[in-house]
Amino acid sequence: MTTNRTADVVIIGGGIAGCAAAYYLAQQGITATIIERDDIAAAASGYNAGGLNPLEGHGWPEPLQDMALQSFRMHRELWESLPAETGIDYHGRLTSILKVALDEDELSDLDDTLATFNRAPEPGFYAERLEREDALSIEPRLCPDVIGGIRAVGNGALDGLEFTQALAAAATGRGASVMSTAALGLRLGNGRVESVVTGEGEVACGALLIAAGPWCRTVEQWLDIAIPVNPLKGQIVRVQPAGPGLDYELIGGGSSMYAKSDGLIWCGSTEEDAGFDLSLTDDAREKILRMAVRLMPSLSDAAVVEQTACLRPVTPDWLPIVGGAPGWDNVYINTGGQKKGILLGPAMGKGIADIIAAGSTDISLAGCDPARFAGRAA
Ligand SMILES: Cc1cc2nc3c(=O)[nH]c(=O)nc-3n(C[C@H](O)[C@H](O)[C@H](O)COP(=O)(O)OP(=O)(O)OC[C@H]3O[C@@H](n4cnc5c(N)ncnc54)[C@H](O)[C@@H]3O)c2cc1C
Repeated sequence: MTTNRTADVVIIGGGIAGCAAAYYLAQQGITATIIERDDIAAAASGYNAGGLNPLEGHGWPEPLQDMALQSFRMHRELWESLPAETGIDYHGRLTSILKVALDEDELSDLDDTLATFNRAPEPGFYAERLEREDALSIEPRLCPDVIGGIRAVGNGALDGLEFTQALAAAATGRGASVMSTAALGLRLGNGRVESVVTGEGEVACGALLIAAGPWCRTVEQWLDIAIPVNPLKGQIVRVQPAGPGLDYELIGGGSSMYAKSDGLIWCGSTEEDAGFDLSLTDDAREKILRMAVRLMPSLSDAAVVEQTACLRPVTPDWLPIVGGAPGWDNVYINTGGQKKGILLGPAMGKGIADIIAAGSTDISLAGCDPARFAGRAA
């Protein structure tokens, strides 16, 4: 097969990890070709809940807190410029979380979020405790069993599909390209990747960026390195409430509800160790809806609009993998965004773009060095 294209950087994967990298590479005058076998954001990057809470999650507060806050600031800058540049409105916005307890067991979780938001390491975040009546006055549709709550202010939200598409559009507007084909293998030479073999011929590259989400394990075999990313399945049920939508993220009784700009409420989500199975299950739908209706009984009248499933890329220590691939001169990895890949996308994308362009970055990538998995069997 002949080499018929060239790119400064070939990126395998058109999710948030690949598109954000292409965007920040383009800002530095480096042309990337994204190889995506499906559509841009066809996997988790297009089906996530779009929550941007930079204060809580696996890997918080250390080592991910600094990266998360950097990324959150980058999101806020991006939503001032990216929609105007691309014409894609992805509804990036500040929002709040209404978190309630339906029984005593859930009260400690409220305390944790209260303390976390009130001790946030930078301004813009706070939380207040709500008595039962306060919570019900904010959301009268809440379950009458609610025993208390908190309101946490300062996090963000967006539409992940459109955000990823906007990054790809801005990157291509600055010279990047997208090939709609699968990466099938690599041509190697002298400790380097010379080209990527695709369904449409070979693409010669100055550097290769692996951003294939939970499918990175296919690529690890081509290079005999370990990229231990595993899929964690998540199903979401989108409903149209009979009344108005939500103005905030609502959490309680095992249910999380995400407010969408079109009035839909996305309820979810499951965490299933199911390999690469993407089937939609009755069990998941019934469980998600049962918990949602318990939290907000009026949702029993809601119309189910869609059920989705996608796979989070999760590493054994739940930390992303961002940096140069051990043992290879021109190979880089950007993956492992776990449940926070949209939040962390700008920081991960700029971090890896800086490393490719200049060998270092001012993004905090603590805990994300690919070398921590060197020596593991691929
Ligand atoms: C239910 C659910 C809810 C979520 N909610 C949130 C949230 O609220 N906030 C948040 O920050 N994060 C959330 N996430 C996490 C977030 O969606 C992911 O971390 C993120 O989208 C991962 O992006 P990625 O680019 O690494 O991978 P992906 O989006 O999976 O993209 C990888 C791409 O690589 C392509 N690919 C793979 N192999 C090849 C190949 N050989 N050739 C060509 N293309 C290839 C795939 O087709 C895919 O498009 C959620 C995830 C799930 C599942």
